[in-house]
Amino acid sequence: MRQQARGKWRGLVYIAASMRLLRPFLSPLLRWLLPAVLCSSQLVPGIVAAQERAGRTAEDAAHILVINGADAYLPAFVAIDSAMRAAVEQRFDRPVVWLYETLDALRFGADAVSPQLAELIAHKYSDARIDAIVLVAEPAVDFYLRHRERLWPKAVAVFHSVSSEVVRRRFTVAGLSGVPFVSDYAQTLRIAFALQPEARRLVVVAGTADFDQRELAEAREALRQYVGRVQVEHLSGLSLSAMAERLARESTDTIALYTTVFRDDQGRVYTPVEVLERLSAASAAPMYGIFDSMIGRGLVAGAIESFRLRGERTADLLVRGLQAAAPLGPRILPPPVSECAADARQLKRFGLRTAALPDGCDVRHVETGLLERYWWQTLLVLLALAVQSVLIALLLLQSRQRSADEFSLQSQRVQLLHASRLAVAGELTASIAHEINQPLGAILSNADAAEMLVESGQMQREELLQILGDIRRDDLRASEVIKRLRALLARHDTERRRFSLNRAVEDTAAVLRPEARRRAVTLDLVLGARRADVIGDAVQIQQVIINLVLNAFDASAELAEDARRVRVETSDTPSGVQVSVRDFGIGIAPADLPRVFDSFFSTKRSGMGLGLSIGRSIVEAHGGTIAAARCEVGAEFRIILPRASQDDRPEQPSTQTP
Ligand code: ADP
Repeated sequence: MRQQARGKWRGLVYIAASMRLLRPFLSPLLRWLLPAVLCSSQLVPGIVAAQERAGRTAEDAAHILVINGADAYLPAFVAIDSAMRAAVEQRFDRPVVWLYETLDALRFGADAVSPQLAELIAHKYSDARIDAIVLVAEPAVDFYLRHRERLWPKAVAVFHSVSSEVVRRRFTVAGLSGVPFVSDYAQTLRIAFALQPEARRLVVVAGTADFDQRELAEAREALRQYVGRVQVEHLSGLSLSAMAERLARESTDTIALYTTVFRDDQGRVYTPVEVLERLSAASAAPMYGIFDSMIGRGLVAGAIESFRLRGERTADLLVRGLQAAAPLGPRILPPPVSECAADARQLKRFGLRTAALPDGCDVRHVETGLLERYWWQTLLVLLALAVQSVLIALLLLQSRQRSADEFSLQSQRVQLLHASRLAVAGELTASIAHEINQPLGAILSNADAAEMLVESGQMQREELLQILGDIRRDDLRASEVIKRLRALLARHDTERRRFSLNRAVEDTAAVLRPEARRRAVTLDLVLGARRADVIGDAVQIQQVIINLVLNAFDASAELAEDARRVRVETSDTPSGVQVSVRDFGIGIAPADLPRVFDSFFSTKRSGMGLGLSIGRSIVEAHGGTIAAARCEVGAEFRIILPRASQDDRPEQPSTQTP
């Protein structure tokens, strides 16, 4: 409800304010007539209704009327007012209805506060109970003193923001309480010279309104002690653009002291802080001043009085007045002490040193570094980075561990491969011995024959040469067997070379033929692959094929000799070059088929069950596949290896039988 009543009153205040704005443009007659007509026709019933509502809503509420002699929306007054209201509402035990009137005489001049305005206000508040009045700035105090007997003879009256000089001269005698203000230009200049000790010029900026001129006078007073030390110039009675232009021509060695500009030479009215913003943007000289609201809007520094403290002191007097049964005697509270304040951005702009400021100076708008401004985001990113680094380190460790494991696995595999090759060699020992024995025996016989020929003395040269030729051939045959065997058994590193699968099958067959003969197995080769080149280790692939063929021999062992046949065939398939080993032996039991490639699976009495599992790991390391199939009679194993490349040289298909 308090809110509602305040809203109604504020509506009336807005209408009165708009009237004031129009006033300079209306003739004096209209100025008088318009409010009168408005009041009699529409406003009066509205005001009365609002007053009634206000009265009803807060029976026990204190009504405090704030009369602002200037513009109530000046940043300084907004700050003081809000501090004052907060303090009253905190310290006073009754509800408060705040009412506002604005005279705006600082900009429009004292004439604007005409007797007609007093009439209007008297009428407006005729039925309202006003317990206290806050008078803001000198014109409000003047207005009150002129009309208090008629308007609010019993109300508690407290002023603020009136120059202490004016208070001393005029208002103490009038029995008023309040908080005057002191324009501390002296301290402001001390701060300016501390920052710019080399300054030889000083420019004072002021407007033409009464208030501006009074401030200028105060500034002049403070400047007196610097006369002789610096050249002083006053920029007053100029247009805004002229002032901006003059300031732009100054150097950074000049001190610009800004007072207030409510009005320029043309009578145009302004808000001082907005003027400051324009001038400061143009000025080549650092600007100094005394108002709190101007730090951050263009001033470099100044001796600043706290608006909050001023508001709280005014509230103090108000509450004391409202609580006292009888009116208090006049009480003038000292204005808050002005203290140094500065704008870090402006200091930086003019290259002035913060260290030169007095101790304890309140430096505002300090640009914090990115780290300070976004500290929690930075912390988060750092944390994320730390977590990420730890994860990366762990992954690296894991990967190193895996490489080490893979390396040891690989070396174990190489050892196993070698062992399994030795095992194959063991299996082939009988046939190899036979294979070597044969040429060795032949060599021996031929050597015997040659010896006999020599001893007989019948040196038949032709016959001797033939014998020696036979010896050489047999020797070559024996050494060929050994060479092949060495190639198969020698320990060597895994290779990646291009080789023909047809050729590998042929070489394998050459090693196995003696064994096939020994076991009476017919070994057929069908080298049907036209594009047989693959990439990898030929010896390892041969080893796989040898194992498949030996298994096929084993499977055929129980057959009649003429039925023992093993066919090794190469062919082209869409997925690569295929080698198949087919036999017609005992076959694989259905239950065993999925297990034949498992390590240590064997159905043989002396079998190790490693041949096929090693074979599969070799084929897979070559990017190929190996599979077993049951046939109607016997079994078939197929290896498919990726073809080396598209442009392989075609090979002639050939069929060989031992
Ligand atoms: P091993 O020969 O030492 O038993 P392998 O891994 O070479 O080990 O073979 C595993 C098993 O697969 C053999 O024991 C056998 O049961 C079966 N097998 C392999 N090849 C054939 C085949 N051609 N015909 C029938 N069974 C086979």
